[in-house]
Amino acid sequence: MKLVSNILKQETYSKADLIQLLESKGDDRALFFKKAQEAKLKYVGKNVFFRGLIEFSNICSKDCYYCGIRNSNANVKRYNLTDDEIISAAKFAYKNKYGSLVLQAGELVSSAFSDRIEKLLNEIKKVSNNELGVTLSVGEQSEETYQRWFNAGAHRFLLRIETSNSELYKKLHPSDHSFSNRLQCLKSLQKIGYQTGTGVMIGLPFQTISDLADDLLFMKEFDVDMVGMGPFIEHSETPLYAYKDELWPIEERFDTTLKMIAILRLMMKDINIAAATALQAIDPLGREKAIRIGANIIMPNITPGFYRNDYALYQNKPCVDEEPEQCMGCLDARLALADSDIGYSEWGDSKHFFLRTSS
Ligand code: SAM
Ligand code: SF4
Repeated sequence: MKLVSNILKQETYSKADLIQLLESKGDDRALFFKKAQEAKLKYVGKNVFFRGLIEFSNICSKDCYYCGIRNSNANVKRYNLTDDEIISAAKFAYKNKYGSLVLQAGELVSSAFSDRIEKLLNEIKKVSNNELGVTLSVGEQSEETYQRWFNAGAHRFLLRIETSNSELYKKLHPSDHSFSNRLQCLKSLQKIGYQTGTGVMIGLPFQTISDLADDLLFMKEFDVDMVGMGPFIEHSETPLYAYKDELWPIEERFDTTLKMIAILRLMMKDINIAAATALQAIDPLGREKAIRIGANIIMPNITPGFYRNDYALYQNKPCVDEEPEQCMGCLDARLALADSDIGYSEWGDSKHFFLRTSS
């Protein structure tokens, strides 16, 4: 077995190296976290960028086995923000100098849905003097729809692959959900010219460390611009809850997520990496810990408070009782703990994207 200090001198890592890093403990773990922290400061700097997250609807046509708002969960109170509520949230983000928004929702595929997003994009650009950047996270759509939204001003898209292991993907989704279509969607987004983001859940039932090493290699190979990955957290009203006693302990899912972020920062030094909200559900300072060792994006929730309880993807989702104004002060204080500065009113685009597309 190699010394971790020797692995860290390499330019690229083999799958065996990645497994060794993911399984490291004590001084070895501390050493690669320190290297990741240095790489972050050197390549993307001290700034952390805000993406105001608007969870604008929990209505979803899909039935992913892990997700609390899946179509078959009859206990969910479904909501759909009005256009006015979404635009008010966008104005809040603009006024408070968040550089960008993320519009996220359950997945719907219809011309009414496509038209609505297009109209909202036009309106958001108008009310923010073209200054707010917009990331979309609304699932698998046709290339034509992605193109329309790109033309209307969305320039980043987040679509997690969830796992790069197609066999594991099958175990996490009903048979009409397709791994190859998800991959095809990611390719379309990249082709159209979006800053393309993906990610995985960590600590899923049946998932192994070898799968996670493959996930890291997948992100590198796909040449992604942005990544958002977080721990899997079980939800009692989902099929995967049946495996709750076989999951890694929650602290291990948390720590493995930090390791994944740190390794990815070492593998892809100039990409944007988000500190997932699910980290905060496990540890109140979870996102700050991720920022310290490699993440540089944070997505404060600016969904109006009274809807937040109903966007419960997993249990103990944090900050569901707060209003956007409360998140604001809280985040400033938290980020100071992680020795970071906030890039107010900046898009904070992925540096990797510009290098990738200029070469
Ligand atoms: N519907 C869109 C989609 O699936 O891309 C966007 C919203 S979806 C709720 C966003 C992400 O939530 C998914 O990509 C998934 O990784 C994550 N998620 C869902 N259920 C989760 C759970 N139980 N634990 C952790 N993350 C979860
Ligand atoms: Fe719907 Fe996304 Fe949840 Fe899957 S993960 S059920 S697509 S909201």
